Amino acid sequence: MFEDLLQDLKDKGLLRRIIDRSSMQGPVITVDGRRYINFASNDYLGLASHPKIISAATKAAQKYGFGAGASRLLAGGSVLHRRLEKEVAGFKGAEEAVFFNSGYAANTGIIPALTSEKDVIFSDELNHASIIDGCRLSNARAVIYRHKDTGHLEELLRKTKAEKKIVITDSVFSMDGDIADLPGLSEICRRHKSIFYIDDAHGTGVLGNGIGALAHFKIRPEPWIIQMGTFSKALGSFGAFVAGSTDTIEWIRNSARSLIFSTALPPPVAAASIAALKILSGKNRLVSSLWGNRERLVNVLNRTGWDTMGSETPIIPVRVGDIPETVSLSSYLWKNGIYAPAIRPPTVKEPRIRLTVTAVHTERHLDKLINVLTEYRRSYLSNIERSRD
Ligand SMILES: *Cc1c(COP(=O)(O)O)cnc(C)c1O
Repeated sequence: MFEDLLQDLKDKGLLRRIIDRSSMQGPVITVDGRRYINFASNDYLGLASHPKIISAATKAAQKYGFGAGASRLLAGGSVLHRRLEKEVAGFKGAEEAVFFNSGYAANTGIIPALTSEKDVIFSDELNHASIIDGCRLSNARAVIYRHKDTGHLEELLRKTKAEKKIVITDSVFSMDGDIADLPGLSEICRRHKSIFYIDDAHGTGVLGNGIGALAHFKIRPEPWIIQMGTFSKALGSFGAFVAGSTDTIEWIRNSARSLIFSTALPPPVAAASIAALKILSGKNRLVSSLWGNRERLVNVLNRTGWDTMGSETPIIPVRVGDIPETVSLSSYLWKNGIYAPAIRPPTVKEPRIRLTVTAVHTERHLDKLINVLTEYRRSYLSNIERSRD
């Protein structure tokens, strides 16, 4: 039934395959019995396989069992769910928080819950797919502003007569690795009396000494600022949170369909997230190692002439050309023991290799990546010369 569609994807070089590992998540993974240096995870701090997190989850399974057994509003929650909410609210400097099953479930549940047909949503054109889907599920009108263009946003805001407005942005854009202008955006929201919704999925555990994007810019949490974020990336666990004023969170608890109509996460997942927050709140070198590795890698890449597309974070896109060229580099890396995926349309407009560097990559891992990239360019260039002769 779908042969034609699949063939079409294949012809365009857009057919994707799932790669499953047989080892823990980490800087080196095993796939089909071979080891690869892994630049494809969002496990920025290496917490997904941290002993303290594994042990917290194991203990919680022994005490509370595994499955949650019901949605949160029925009997699905445990004291761990509640403790996690209190702790993440404190961590983010907000009054209250509520725990969601994933970042995707959070955005698709919260955005419709906050808006009705009279309202207008303003969304950055490069926002994450879960925000786009949240806007589609909402009855409000969604207006897209040009990427990080605060002037454009303000022009659009001036034109609207809606009473309730909500500006939504990723803090760190997941495919480009650049950072939103939160000071500019929050100033505009203050002026236009708009709600400001920040998706801090890639900022939590990464920016602002691990606290997130608001801390990075020294912006104080306000009742009209809603901070959403995930436990699934730098925190090495799973699930998401939204933190804000008490009444905002109370409303979300009572109206977000992805919270109400879905089974709560297993208690061991809550326990793992609590343990991750504890590691981040204590003295740790993880965040500084992450940034040290990021600086080292970006500096070498730029010095050796690779285009890192304005990355400002541990997400480092590398532009190599059209789809076949990008896929060819990604396969070359794979053959040489490096996992760095090609990201193609429709996920992004311009194809690229997307590297994510973590706190737990070693200097050797980074050197190996650079060496293989250099060899690739050398053989690629000599192929071009040969084809000219
Ligand atoms: C990954 C991501 C999500 C989805 O989070 P999951 O917990 O993986 O469902 C949402 N928003 C952004 C910006 C993301 O990068």
